[in-house]
Amino acid sequence: MKPARFDYVRPDSVDQALDLLARYGGDAKIIAGGQSLMPMMNFRLVKPAVLVDINRIPGLEVIEDQGERVRMGALARHRMTATDSMIASRIPVLHDAMHHVAHMTVRNRGTFCGSVCHADPAAEIPMIVLMLDGQVEVASASRRRVLPAAEFLVGSLVTALEADEMVTGITIGMSDPQSGWAFEEFSRRHGDFALAAVAVTLGVDADGAIRNPRIGMTGVGETAMRMRGVEALIDGCHPDEDMLGEVSEWLNDNLVPNTDIHAGADYRRHLSGVLAGRAIRAAYARARTLRG
Ligand code: FAD
Repeated sequence: MKPARFDYVRPDSVDQALDLLARYGGDAKIIAGGQSLMPMMNFRLVKPAVLVDINRIPGLEVIEDQGERVRMGALARHRMTATDSMIASRIPVLHDAMHHVAHMTVRNRGTFCGSVCHADPAAEIPMIVLMLDGQVEVASASRRRVLPAAEFLVGSLVTALEADEMVTGITIGMSDPQSGWAFEEFSRRHGDFALAAVAVTLGVDADGAIRNPRIGMTGVGETAMRMRGVEALIDGCHPDEDMLGEVSEWLNDNLVPNTDIHAGADYRRHLSGVLAGRAIRAAYARARTLRG
């Protein structure tokens, strides 16, 4: 398939890009890595009249250590996030998740912010952004705003972004160095979108009980999700069979996954319980080791 006819513009600055978005509004789309947009255009699922290519804008291809948080600029590529040594040591759950995002060729071009803007319900990055208190920096020609990821991600392929806005960067919180972490995913082939995936960070107290758990899931709903219900269930507990059984039951009662050509809703619900159990156990074991 080939895309419908479109015009192409390549601004040299964020201000120029925002002026173009203000001029063309809903007729324009930003292209970053193009790894989701181009397939959608080729299938004519989207037909923007104008593509605003941000790839030549200086200063966007950055990952910044801000102390308590890390900031991914609008052109931070998946490859950069996957290989960044600060992320590997300070946010290991993100480092691990990145190796499940597509293949090397896609990771060379695809961007962290583009993944969040695309809002695929089975994508890994939106899940991590939700779980680690992500803040999305949004700009238009007339205003700047910062949206919590939970407000930005509205539904399947739907965000709170207005037609004249672009995302200039996203920040997420660094992990507590004492916290254990784990990432578990099941997909049909390595690099495919997740049928279900679970990310966990948690601490343990002196009695060995779980403290401050954070749990994200993707592939099992309309968007990636932070699972506050499961977090409340396991906070203060020891991860024994009873507790993990309750987690599975909770997920079975509360998740409403989609059925598609890859898997049915029941199978995804089952997977979510199995993966959550594995991830909680693995994160707990790491947290115990870190505590010494
Ligand atoms: P683009 O394709 O350039 O844009 C996607 C959408 O976001 C468009 O609507 C665009 O207008 C908008 N957009 C992009 N940047 C901005 C911005 N700064 N401001 C406002 N709007 C913006 N992803 C996964 O998570 N997991 C996978 O396993 C996975 N597997 C893949 C396998 C293949 C074969 C392919 C082709 C892709 C796969 N992807 C996967 C998708 C990949 O991660 C994309 O890179 C990502 O979804 C989009 O990032 P991008 O920079 O390519 O965005």
